[in-house]
Amino acid sequence: MFLLTNSAARAGVPAGHAALLRGAPLLDVLEIALREAESDREERSLGLGGRPNFLGQVELDASLMDGATRRTGSVGALQGFLHPVSVARQVLERLPHEILVGEGAALFGREIGAETGNLLTPESEAEWREWLRREGSIEPASARVWRTVSFGSQRDTAIVLASDGTHLASGTSTCGWPFKYPGRLGDSALIGSGHYADSRAGAAACTHTGEMAIRAGTARAVVLALQRGRSAEEACQEAIEDVRQLRTGLLSDLIVHALDRAGNCCVRSTGIEGGYWWWSRGMNAPEERAAIVM
Ligand code: ASP
Repeated sequence: MFLLTNSAARAGVPAGHAALLRGAPLLDVLEIALREAESDREERSLGLGGRPNFLGQVELDASLMDGATRRTGSVGALQGFLHPVSVARQVLERLPHEILVGEGAALFGREIGAETGNLLTPESEAEWREWLRREGSIEPASARVWRTVSFGSQRDTAIVLASDGTHLASGTSTCGWPFKYPGRLGDSALIGSGHYADSRAGAAACTHTGEMAIRAGTARAVVLALQRGRSAEEACQEAIEDVRQLRTGLLSDLIVHALDRAGNCCVRSTGIEGGYWWWSRGMNAPEERAAIVM
């Protein structure tokens, strides 16, 4: 049994760990951990208290993948739901589809009775209003959106990778980057970019510049490297070397998390500092570690 989460998911570590220990199904472990993280209003990169898009709306991306079946469930650009990961879980459980976005995701959320609420806390709203004041005006949005990249260090995603010793699963939840363009979908909702799990090989997840993980298909690349017999370190290294080949578009930091089926983990960053939590059977409790910057 293994559990790997990053710092943005820290609020979910105790509950996720306890669920894994009591033998809960892996998707339950992920959902339990990510729901706790989504309720953590101190963590501003997801769920309640997440930073809004440039219109002041908190737009959420969340996703789960079952490495045994390679079924997935994702929601993107979802507004007004306290636990997007639970809506994503029901996409996986109930629909023939893998991803729902925007209004369709909200319609489905209402149909299944998912909890709704206002995610914009006074802190996030004040930050957004201050940003709007500095910007002067909303238009033209497409030119201004490049400047939101300077908020890079303030964005993150809660990621969880888990193994019950036989199977692996992966999950994510985020509000993307602060003051993003409305409707912008990040890597976290996109299977193969922001995360991937395949019980035959391993699991991977990315945080920070989703645009790069989308272009390079990073999470899937890591898992394919594991499947080809690369170690977790080598798989992360190859993936980072690959994104470093990108020359145009949005280029910034990426953190890659990898877990192989034997329980070897590796977390590598292209530059930004990042923490993660790791637990494997035999350890007393989950332990906080720092990502290695390459
Ligand atoms: N990867 C996420 C996104 O691009 C944000 C982050 O993890 O910082 O939406």
